[in-house]
Amino acid sequence: MTLRVFGCLLQTRPHFARERRVSSARASNATETLVGDPSLKQKNPFPGYKFDSRPSLFSGFQSRGLQANPLAQVLDALGESVPCVSYDSWMVYLPECEFLSRIGPTEFLKDLEKYASPEAAREWKKLLIYMFAEWYKPGCSLEYPLNGSGGVVDALVRGMRKFGGRLALGNHVDKIVVENGRATGVKLRSGQFVRAKKAVVSNASMWDTLNMLPTEAIPRSNAEGIRKTPQCDSFMHLHLGFDAQDIPEDLGIHHVVVNDWSRGMDADQNVVLISVPSVMSKDLAPPGNYVLHAYTPGTEPFGLWEGLDRRSPEYKRLKEERDEVMCNVVKRALGPGFSRDRCEVRLVGTPLTHQRFLRRNHGTYGPAIQAGQATFPGHATPIPQLFCCEDSMFPGIGVPTVAASGAITANSLVSVPEHMQLLDAVGI
Ligand SMILES: Cc1cc2nc3c(=O)[nH]c(=O)nc-3n(C[C@H](O)[C@H](O)[C@H](O)COP(=O)(O)OP(=O)(O)OC[C@H]3O[C@@H](n4cnc5c(N)ncnc54)[C@H](O)[C@@H]3O)c2cc1C
Repeated sequence: MTLRVFGCLLQTRPHFARERRVSSARASNATETLVGDPSLKQKNPFPGYKFDSRPSLFSGFQSRGLQANPLAQVLDALGESVPCVSYDSWMVYLPECEFLSRIGPTEFLKDLEKYASPEAAREWKKLLIYMFAEWYKPGCSLEYPLNGSGGVVDALVRGMRKFGGRLALGNHVDKIVVENGRATGVKLRSGQFVRAKKAVVSNASMWDTLNMLPTEAIPRSNAEGIRKTPQCDSFMHLHLGFDAQDIPEDLGIHHVVVNDWSRGMDADQNVVLISVPSVMSKDLAPPGNYVLHAYTPGTEPFGLWEGLDRRSPEYKRLKEERDEVMCNVVKRALGPGFSRDRCEVRLVGTPLTHQRFLRRNHGTYGPAIQAGQATFPGHATPIPQLFCCEDSMFPGIGVPTVAASGAITANSLVSVPEHMQLLDAVGI
């Protein structure tokens, strides 16, 4: 069931820190002996610092049964758990005020109307992506994995190995091989061919998967459909490592900053999310230091960056300019004790960085498919034995949803009795 699920998370390690771990687009039941691609393994240039490059907002790890978070169901099936720290609040900074927002059945939207305006509450609802709604139900708590979000990956990898799964981490898939109209395996950058016994399951985005297929293998109308699927915008990222000495002792892990209601929550450079996971998981930074990740959530236009040479002065200038908004909000959240110039680590990522290291076409957050207007595609493809399960597929973007996407695909590949056995095992 879980062959692909860890793929959704593999890139949660430091990515701008030049450590790349790749998996995905892999063949199930591989018969070859696989080793990692040594060219993809590099030393962490910032010893002691460990950054999350993506998810940091988690909940429901302890949930079980029918209503559980799909990721918790997968971990349950593998007999694994992720040690977490629980918490229940995050700081909200609005143009007119700032306050601590608690999750659970609170009156958050009413508070927002009171402190800001009805328009602000309407705008906020746009941010109510997949799990936010869950956070306002009774008994909910947020959970941050000890050892960072890489801890989730580690649990999935352990679970896979325990059940005899063979993982080829650190390998780049160059091509999905199609023979006689069927997907039969993958060709790695190293030149190695991995033959699939049952199926090839791609965890790369729909656009990236398309680029790995021979042009003639996929009907033109399907390829066009994929190319025309609208994409969410990309990200600006700021990763900082700094001395915690002059930072408030009660600093929270998560902060959301809205700069200007009149521009809308989805306007570029208007909303910044900040995560300081080392306040909960001390081992993410050297003793006495913090790691921080600030980002503009899927609102940075790729078009601004497209075609720029990453070494050009123009690129560097634009990077400094677009980084400014994140630096300003970090100062607001961390207080006067914070100084950008005193940071031991300062890494700015652009949509080009995101595209390169997170290996996402145009550095996109995912398909811009609006609920009620269209649906995310299913997991089978027009090519027999090729399946896709990732956030361009049903049920969509976010860690719990991609875990569900993996589970659905895995269930399509096993027999009904095996399927039933697993459902029984996890109490569904
Ligand atoms: C900044 C940011 C913050 C986020 N925060 C949250 C959050 O707090 N909570 C949450 O639930 N979700 C969050 N998300 C969304 C979540 O991270 C994604 O929806 C999820 O990771 C998508 O999983 P996926 O498996 O579909 O794709 P990916 O995570 O993109 O996984 C695809 C994998 O395939 C690999 N790959 C691609 N091409 C190849 C190739 N040719 N060969 C080998 N490997 C390849 C990539 O390296 C990657 O590891 C966030 C996203 C971002 C960008």
